[in-house]
Amino acid sequence: MRDSDGPAAAAVRRRLLGWYRAERRELPWRAALGALGEPYRVWVSEVMLQQTRVAAAMPYYERFLRRFPSVEALARAPEAAVLAAWSGLGYYRRARQLRAAAREICERHGGRFPATLAEARALPGIGEYTAAAVLSIAFGQPLPAADGNARRVVGRLLGRAVSLAEARERLAGWLAAQAPGDFNQAVMELGALVCTPRTPQCPRCPLRALCRSRGEGPASTPPPPPERVTLRYGLARDGRGRVFLVQRPGDAAQMASLWELPEMQAPNGPPLARVKHSITTRAITAELYALASPAGAGRWLRPAEAARLPLTGLARKLLTAVSGPPVEGPSRPSAMRRRSSAAPSRRRDGGGSRRRW
Ligand code: SF4
Repeated sequence: MRDSDGPAAAAVRRRLLGWYRAERRELPWRAALGALGEPYRVWVSEVMLQQTRVAAAMPYYERFLRRFPSVEALARAPEAAVLAAWSGLGYYRRARQLRAAAREICERHGGRFPATLAEARALPGIGEYTAAAVLSIAFGQPLPAADGNARRVVGRLLGRAVSLAEARERLAGWLAAQAPGDFNQAVMELGALVCTPRTPQCPRCPLRALCRSRGEGPASTPPPPPERVTLRYGLARDGRGRVFLVQRPGDAAQMASLWELPEMQAPNGPPLARVKHSITTRAITAELYALASPAGAGRWLRPAEAARLPLTGLARKLLTAVSGPPVEGPSRPSAMRRRSSAAPSRRRDGGGSRRRW
C-alpha cells in the first residue's frame, strides 16, 4: 500500500532489509540476522550510542561489558566504579541513569528488562526511542525507533521536513512486522553509513528509486563553529610520586563528582603539556603547568589509585600527556570523531620507569 505522499511500505521494507542483510556491520551487541538480541547488551549499546559514534563507543562497550557483564553486576556496582568505566565517553548522566535503571530492574522487575513500552519508559534515562529500540531488537516488538537520524532519512525520502512524531508514524507504517528489530537497525545503519547528515551517498542507497530528494533537498544547516577557550591546570607532585586531584561538585551541571586537576589562573613558566579537547560546543586548548603548593580541598593520589577514579576525560588526557600512555581501557581509534577524546586506562601502575595513567 502506498502512502498518499510517500513510497509503498512493501518496497521500503524489501529494499531496506535486503540491503541490511547484505551490508550490515558486525557489532558486538548485534545478534545474528533474524535472531533476537540480548536485552542488557542492546540496552547498554543504545545508551552509549546516544551521543557517541559506533567506532568510538565500541572499545568502551566491550570494556564496560567485561566490567559489568549483567544487569545485576551493574546494579551492585558503586557509582564511582560505573563512572570510572565510562570515563572518556562523556555525558556522564547517561552512566548514572544506566546504573539507576539497572537497580530498578533488579528491585522491581526481577532482573529482567521490562517487556512493555510503559514499563521500559518508566526506567531512568529511557525515552521513547531507546525503549522502542530495545523492545524491537531484543523482544521482537513492532515498535518504530525514531531518533534524529531516522527523522532525517524519512524526511529525505519524502522530500520535505518531518517532525519526529511524523517520522515515527511513517516508520510504524513501513515497519517489517516479522523482523522489526532488523528493520529498525536497517534504518539506523542507513542513516549512519549512506544517508549521512552532510553528504548522503545516494548512488549506493537501496532506497534511491523511492526517494523524493535523492540528496537534492535543502542542505543540512552546518553546526555553529565551536567556542574556542584555553583552560589552565596545575600539576602538583609530592616526593612519593603522588599527584593532587580535586573533585567536581556533586551538583555541577557537567561531569558532576568527577575528579580533575586543579585549575590555575596565573601560571608561571612554560606549560608541561598542551592538549586539545572538545566538549559539545567548546573547542578547548588545555595547558598543564607545574603547581608548587595546591590550595583547597583535594586528595594526593598514586597513579594506580587515580586510574581507578572517575576522572574527567580532559584530566586523563593531560596526565597521559605528561606521564605516558594510558594503562586502563581501550586505545582510541584515530579516525574517531566524538565529543571527548581522552582514552581511559585500565592497567595498573606497573612500576615501570614512566608514571602511567
Ligand atoms: S537516495 Fe539519498 S537522500 Fe534519499 S534516502 Fe537514499 S541516501 Fe538519503
